[in-house]
Amino acid sequence: MDNLWIASLDDADRKRLEPHLAERAFTQGQMLYDAGEAVDQVWFPLSGVVSLMTVLAEDRMVETAAIGREGLIGVTCGPMNARASSRAIAQIEGSAACCSADIFSDALAESPGMRTALSKFTESLFAQVQQTAACNAQHRLDERLARWLLTLHDRAQSNRFHLTQADIAGMLGVRRATVSEVGAGLEGKHLIRRGRGWVEVLDRTALEEAACGCYAAMRGVMKDLGVPRPRAPNA
Ligand SMILES: [Zn+2]
Repeated sequence: MDNLWIASLDDADRKRLEPHLAERAFTQGQMLYDAGEAVDQVWFPLSGVVSLMTVLAEDRMVETAAIGREGLIGVTCGPMNARASSRAIAQIEGSAACCSADIFSDALAESPGMRTALSKFTESLFAQVQQTAACNAQHRLDERLARWLLTLHDRAQSNRFHLTQADIAGMLGVRRATVSEVGAGLEGKHLIRRGRGWVEVLDRTALEEAACGCYAAMRGVMKDLGVPRPRAPNA
């Protein structure tokens, strides 16, 4: 399994990183780093999904971006080796190729191509954060839930993934009972199926139709920037 961002680099740039990469697994709910911490690792997911969370209080936080095998985590929160501005939590378990921030910094300094690839990725991430902020403020919860499930589905590489009602409520910043009600609406239309601790996407096309325009807008930005776009297997 590949990280799409590394795969998009040319041979010389991939060789700068590959000798220094070590695979690390992450479990669902694992915190890769917290807001305020100095981040000394760069994570290139091979599978799974990591959410960047803005923490308002210990029991109140909201997701501002989701990153999977199309991107990287750890240098996206500010200048190299700065303290993280958000909390990174694994949303769907998986693994990542990791290297130290210093190694990545050195590789970037040597390679204009890698700097361009990173700036395109951070631009698409910034667009995702902006779109998510607008979506959270303006769109109906059923549309937001559909948009968020599509984002995970594209990165999960499976139609069924581990997710509890509590996970969903936490990500969308709403009460569990509300999520349960809205989830039942999508299930009633046969777009998804839910079980204890998992969600399965049944009708991808209809789920796209049920989502707000934010999902398509984000795909459009990624296409325009020419960054790798993850896609669900049957999408
Ligand atoms: Zn939206």
